[in-house]
Amino acid sequence: MSGEFLPFCRPQVTSEDIEAVVAVLNSGWITTGSKNAALEAAFCERVGARHAVAIASATAAMHVYLHALGVGPGDEVITPSFTWVSTVNLICLLGATPVFVDVDRHTLMVDAETIAEAVTDRTRAIIPVHFAGAPLDMDPIRALCDERGIALVEDAAHSMGTLYKGKPVGNCGTAIFSLQAIKNVTSAEGGILATDDEALARRVRGLKFHGLGVDAFDRQTQGRKPQAEVLEPGFKYNLPDMCAALGLSQLHRLDRINDARRAIAEFYDQALQQVPAVIPLHRPAWPHRHGWHLYAVRIASDVAGARDHFIEEMQRENIGCGIHFRAVHEQSYYRTRRFSGDRHLPNTEWNSARILSLPLFPDMSGSDAQRVVEAITRVVERIRLA
Ligand SMILES: *Cc1c(COP(=O)(O)O)cnc(C)c1O
Repeated sequence: MSGEFLPFCRPQVTSEDIEAVVAVLNSGWITTGSKNAALEAAFCERVGARHAVAIASATAAMHVYLHALGVGPGDEVITPSFTWVSTVNLICLLGATPVFVDVDRHTLMVDAETIAEAVTDRTRAIIPVHFAGAPLDMDPIRALCDERGIALVEDAAHSMGTLYKGKPVGNCGTAIFSLQAIKNVTSAEGGILATDDEALARRVRGLKFHGLGVDAFDRQTQGRKPQAEVLEPGFKYNLPDMCAALGLSQLHRLDRINDARRAIAEFYDQALQQVPAVIPLHRPAWPHRHGWHLYAVRIASDVAGARDHFIEEMQRENIGCGIHFRAVHEQSYYRTRRFSGDRHLPNTEWNSARILSLPLFPDMSGSDAQRVVEAITRVVERIRLA
């Protein structure tokens, strides 16, 4: 209808990004090497993390982490069902049991009280999710885990640049970031595990490359023994330097990227006050700086399929929307196994049926955002949501 197709996300790739990747291609060393080390150092500096391990994806980082923890049959892992599927898939692949907890209806995040109700003697780990660029209320969750001796790993895939009580997410404890193509900082695919646990960092570093004591880069440049040995069976989850160089180049301009996202989000906040048929998320009550990874809204309709209809009509307006997320326990494999047991997840289910993500990316213009709001207004009228 109006203008070119506006996707819900488009990665920002600058000429500096391209030069950084080309330099790696010309360097004679294209897999894991100095750019990984530089990315890890820049990340630690930025976030205030003690250790950072760059890895093939956030999913790979989560796999290595859960493996290192020894999560397996008989163990329970508490996580929201309102998350990306990878976490729950891994829990199941390791033979453990996911225990789903409900989220707040309007921030879509878990709280310590709800988690505490789900803790049993079998709880091995808790994986809360920082949602859309807003931070979880970590202090009570951390206190609960410390008190009960339960491992805590934050899913910080949405949180590059997010501050909680003045400090960057990832600056303490253990948190996993994603550098996948739609994330605020991208390396096309990639992830970073941040931790203040030195032994964990060392273990993850080994496990991400076959469980060898040293990786190929170390062997060639640090003058270590030419044949590293398997210390324990590991994975092949290292990040190529072409990707690390892209991520590093992007990380340098994280503030500019997030400021551009914030400007669009603030425009939506204002404009959508006039459109009661779509309900934005609420901002958390605790002090924070939002990273604006997603701009999620919920369709204010109880009619089955209203959200999907809305997205189809937006598509006809040449505007793409995303869905983050469909509740995991409602997806085919998990539905039939009923991992949620008799626990009710009313807020998760309410949002799963109604949520969608509006276009939000750093190169979006003000007039793009205006176009989105005008299209929403037309669609809401056309399908009688108003
Ligand atoms: C993107 C995402 C992941 C997975 O990240 P990958 O790097 O693609 O493995 C995990 N959790 C959440 C909440 C995500 O949005």
